[in-house]
Amino acid sequence: MSKSVDTDTVRKQPVDRYLKRQVLGEGTYGVVYKAIDTLTGQTVAIKKIRLGNQKEGLNFTALREIKLLKELKHPNIIELIDAFPDKGNLHLVFEYMQTDLEAVIRDRNIFLSPADIKSYMLMTLRGLAFCHKKWVLHRDMKPNNLLIGDKGQLKLADFGLARIFGSPDRRFTHQGSSDIDQLGKIFQALGTPRPSQWADMVYLPEYVEFQYVPAPPLRSLFPMASDDALDLLAKMFTYDPRARISIQQAMEHRYFSSAPPPTDPTKLRIPASKGDLLESKVSDLNQQESPTVLSPPGKLRRVMGPEAFDINRNQSIDDAEDY
Ligand code: AMP
Repeated sequence: MSKSVDTDTVRKQPVDRYLKRQVLGEGTYGVVYKAIDTLTGQTVAIKKIRLGNQKEGLNFTALREIKLLKELKHPNIIELIDAFPDKGNLHLVFEYMQTDLEAVIRDRNIFLSPADIKSYMLMTLRGLAFCHKKWVLHRDMKPNNLLIGDKGQLKLADFGLARIFGSPDRRFTHQGSSDIDQLGKIFQALGTPRPSQWADMVYLPEYVEFQYVPAPPLRSLFPMASDDALDLLAKMFTYDPRARISIQQAMEHRYFSSAPPPTDPTKLRIPASKGDLLESKVSDLNQQESPTVLSPPGKLRRVMGPEAFDINRNQSIDDAEDY
């Protein structure tokens, strides 16, 4: 197995270029620090990723994140400024972002008008459209992965789970109960999908049958949304990917052309600082019971042969970059 990282992707360089400041938080891969880039004077966020066994070089997740982010340059996508290994860790240097959409939503002092919501929707879809144009799926779209800069600009972050579309030998991880829990929450909100709605569902790898729960009216979940907004949401929440609206069609939806126009990002209010808002995160939805799993996970019904998902253990790190 290759021991070093592609020098084009990750350059070795003096760590003292960045002056570490406070810890911003702990993420999926490790600690995130605020820092100053002494070369440019810019404030940055450094994501320190534990590499584990150095002999094995960089892990796939880290390599994937570097490679994808290097390719994805867009005003609504977080910029990867630099990447370097040091003392068994990989350091990813990102542009610093003031806050995230979760903090905005949770801030009781911020009233989000329909025009503000439209602005956040538009910036999110623009970033995502760019990903899809590059055949990349984000796979972890959620408010705290939508970072917000000091000028109100929203940027997609954390592509750790992103995959290239249609790659024949992409790998699947076998995730467990948390995925099942998450599906339960989705079905509770949007109803259990039926084969009449999505015929190919039963052929999904690791398909699990859930107890049927009817869909509550979408209006009951979004009481304040306009009819246009609700129509777009219904089209985006369509289970069958063949029937679901594409990102391009979504951006052309009348919701974006009808009144009110989206708020200019510089006019959006953002919280003073993140971390002030560590209030209870339990939503009403979490307190209700989710639909029950009828057949256990592990019942494999693959659409493709299992060999398509195998990882070749002898594969070099350089080859692995294609994941
Ligand atoms: P993550 O590893 O992406 O889950 O991030 C862990 C913590 O660091 C979270 O509190 C994020 O809000 C924060 N964070 C991640 N990236 C940035 C960034 N570019 N600018 C500021 N804070 C960030």
